[in-house]
Amino acid sequence: MGRSEWVIMFKFFTLFILLYSTLFSADLTIIDGFKKSDNFTLKYYDDEKSLLTIDEIQKIDFKETLPSQFTMGYKYDNVWFKIEIENHSKNEDFVLYFTESIWSTLDLYTKEDSQWKLQKNGLNVPLNERDITDSSPSFNIHIASKEKSVLYIKGNTIASQIGEFQLYSQKEFFNPSRTTITEWYSIYAFVLFIFILLNLYNLILIKERIYAYYIMYVLIYIVFSFMHSGIYITLGFPNWQEGLHVLGQLVLFTLLLFTIEFLRLDKTYPVMKKVFNYLALGAFFFALLLSQNLPYSTIASNVFFSGTLIFIVYVAVRVLKNGFDGAKYYLIALMLFLPAMAMMAMNFNAMLVNNDFTRYTFLAGAFVEIFLFTILLTNRYMNINKTNNLLTIKTVELENMRKQLTIEATTDVLSGLYNRRYFYNISQEYYFTANKYNQELSVLMIDIDTFKNINDTYGHGVGDNIIEETGKILTKITRTSDVVARYGGEEFIILLTETGIDNAVELAERIRVNIENNHIVLDNGEVVHVTVSIGVTQLNNMKDRDIEETIKRCDKALYASKNKGRNIVSTIL
Ligand code: GH3
Ligand code: MG
Ligand code: MG
Repeated sequence: MGRSEWVIMFKFFTLFILLYSTLFSADLTIIDGFKKSDNFTLKYYDDEKSLLTIDEIQKIDFKETLPSQFTMGYKYDNVWFKIEIENHSKNEDFVLYFTESIWSTLDLYTKEDSQWKLQKNGLNVPLNERDITDSSPSFNIHIASKEKSVLYIKGNTIASQIGEFQLYSQKEFFNPSRTTITEWYSIYAFVLFIFILLNLYNLILIKERIYAYYIMYVLIYIVFSFMHSGIYITLGFPNWQEGLHVLGQLVLFTLLLFTIEFLRLDKTYPVMKKVFNYLALGAFFFALLLSQNLPYSTIASNVFFSGTLIFIVYVAVRVLKNGFDGAKYYLIALMLFLPAMAMMAMNFNAMLVNNDFTRYTFLAGAFVEIFLFTILLTNRYMNINKTNNLLTIKTVELENMRKQLTIEATTDVLSGLYNRRYFYNISQEYYFTANKYNQELSVLMIDIDTFKNINDTYGHGVGDNIIEETGKILTKITRTSDVVARYGGEEFIILLTETGIDNAVELAERIRVNIENNHIVLDNGEVVHVTVSIGVTQLNNMKDRDIEETIKRCDKALYASKNKGRNIVSTIL
């Protein structure tokens, strides 16, 4: 056969198919190998007042035609669907499945032996009383081979008139080769749950409110999306249908709280922090209204919901314009989420056609949003952690530096004793304490004798050694509560707390003898001896107006020792 013959054959073939299909006047025709219906058409009748019986309804001409996946928006009327099915296959057992579980009534009427048989379904029918225990309405259907069957379905919904009728071969329905919607939802929730765990970890480690809000947000969202799957019916809460709207408001509530933190509104836009708090309160209020099933609460809360979302976007843009870069990521995440959410909402309100894209994309949008926020928050956690670690290191460094500086500021390098400045400060304190509690306080001034000579004879290095050595001896002999300081070149001063003059003189004497008996051996084997002169006095609580006066008197006592020929302890009171 040539090419043109093939074309003619093909044309005939398509013509034949077209002719053949017109023979089936039914909405849905079943042929051999049938597993699951694709889109088909069905008839729709709005029985507003819910007055018609099945006997009356079958006489009515259903004028309106719908696709099997349809949305008629929020209408609380009673409605009837009529589906004509023609069975051209050998298979006779099927399942009619409806994708949405939000319908309160979905009753199927089938005629068997000229009798109407009723299968009740929808939220009003407990799961265990349904012919098929699926949270989504499902009906067993028998159509004899070569027969035509007319199905009537009476429906009423508490939400939107939305959904899709699907016909499955019984085998396909009960042993599915597909992943069921509930399975998809479960996988979805499981992955989101892992995100929650990750953020819980962040929360435990940094204890910042934003993580708590975020976890709440995702948790409520998981329940929200799960409500769409009708899982609450399976779990035994068939009256939770209004919960879908309640949860919508709670999603908004937590989103607002989270946004306050994420956009740092307290710093970037303080007025809006207040406004957001009020809006969050509003969302909570609407959640309450919805849970009480008050009239118009659905419409009012929907308006509030969409208005608030738009407002959130507006604020995020303003915050970004004001120079807060973090708002950029927030907007990106929200821009992935909001259109998908809006599309779903418009679908429910019959402003868009109902198909899998308009119905389920919000799940993907929300998923991407939550994924992005998780990354941002984890990144934030890592940054904070890094900064914290750095801060800890810096704090320790600073503390060490401060300690070092304090030591340097109060200590004399050569002798290791306190320096004169520190002594000046501490002596004031000791003066006040001694005066206040009427305690005794004595002062010793010690000066190395003829030190100039030592320097001249042995050099400055040896001189330094002797100053160092003398410092050690003074520290050793005194108590830790006493203050020993280097007062000048080769001059030392000691404050003796709670010590009277007698004990002070005794100590001074011990110091004098100790230094006299001490000797320093030089590198060349030479031995150096030094002596000190000491002045002693005691604080006179009645007379001394400040510690300077006491010190001056002590200096005089020291001068006296020098005058008397050195290596002597003198006292002036
Ligand atoms: P005296 O006290 O017995 O009257 O005689 P002196 O020689 O000790 O008298 P003076 O107080 O006049 O001299 C102190 C000397 O101590 C002067 C200075 O060169 C020396 N000197 C001061 N500080 C230091 C120091 O840090 N190291 C050394 N090696 N010498 C110092
Ligand atoms: Mg001297
Ligand atoms: Mg001196």
